[in-house]
Amino acid sequence: MPTTPFTTIDTKAVHAGEPQPRIGGAVAMPIFQSSTYLYEGETDYHALRYVRLNNTPNHEVLHRKLKALEGAESALVTSSGMAAITTAILGVLRSGDHMLALDCPYGGTRGFLAEDLPRFGMSCTFIDPMLPASWPAALRDNSRVIYMESITNPLMQVPDLRAFVEFARAHNLVSMVDNTFASPVNFRPAEIGIDLSLHSCTKYLNGHNDLAAGAIIGRADLVDELRLLLNHLGGTLDPHACFLLHRGIKTLALRVRRQNDSAGRIADFLEKHAAISVVNYPGLASNRGHGRAAELFDGYGGMMSFDFVDGVPAARQFLEGVTIPIVAVSLGGVESLIIRPAVTAYANVPPAERRRLGVTDSLVRLSVGIEDANDLVEDLRAALDGTV
Ligand code: PLP
Repeated sequence: MPTTPFTTIDTKAVHAGEPQPRIGGAVAMPIFQSSTYLYEGETDYHALRYVRLNNTPNHEVLHRKLKALEGAESALVTSSGMAAITTAILGVLRSGDHMLALDCPYGGTRGFLAEDLPRFGMSCTFIDPMLPASWPAALRDNSRVIYMESITNPLMQVPDLRAFVEFARAHNLVSMVDNTFASPVNFRPAEIGIDLSLHSCTKYLNGHNDLAAGAIIGRADLVDELRLLLNHLGGTLDPHACFLLHRGIKTLALRVRRQNDSAGRIADFLEKHAAISVVNYPGLASNRGHGRAAELFDGYGGMMSFDFVDGVPAARQFLEGVTIPIVAVSLGGVESLIIRPAVTAYANVPPAERRRLGVTDSLVRLSVGIEDANDLVEDLRAALDGTV
């Protein structure tokens, strides 16, 4: 397979990793809806051509495209974002090992780290992603991993990612970042030396709210090892879902740029509205992570969260009043989605802990879709005017 001559992410999204020559002359990648392939004398279990072993043509084209998108050495698709996260963590840690992770990650990740890891003889200390000076106190002799989100869910903090890389190197830790919110269009972790980038491809990479998928992208030695574990754990992506994800990725750059622009306009509007007490969006000058985001990212993303002067009743009334954003969990698709994290992804975190982390009961998270930005602003304005 020739190495990609494509330089921009827009062109890579369309052309990188595509089979050469095209299979049967097909311009679009065909779906290989076959679970098994002719035995050709392979002598290694992992080299057998079988769908769960993540090596069908639909898997391989995605692996090539995803690694090109982030300028990384290797990539692996998984059956969901959580399959990518859990496989990466379980694959790098050994029984008895310890890791550090941001204290306010995606709720599913937090549940896995807090509730499941101890059952495997592994442990996690939560750290403040915005305070690198506090990280050394969490280190132990058996620490092996440090885990961040490049834009945190749901507070949209941007951790000091350069300090994160330096800290990982200084203490011999594998650095992992969930890059779902930024997407490869806005941030490519390998470019600043992060070992592994993890994605819920359910979100921006696919972009159409119609499948679950994940990805592990990064250092080849780690991804190769994780592929063997994924082959055993079985969190493989079905070829038909591979095809849909592949198709979705082709429009990634277009969608994310539009979402960056619209989200910037919406965040500006919300910040000035009397009913809103705070807007969390890395593109706002008022955001603590704004300087870092401006330095490291090519765009500020399509995700924001905001809170209400009049608390939960106002948030509820607002959610009843919006007509374009759909009230649903998940994010990153063409439809705008809106939700209260305290009653969804953070529902299992005790209320006092939730509040300490800054996830108030009235916090609302908005995933901006590709609808017209003026339509979205007017819809939000009408819903907000009903709350004051
Ligand atoms: N990471 C982030 C930041 C998420 O928001 C989510 C899901 O919402 C996940 C990971 C998990 O992804 P999936 O639902 O594809 O397993």
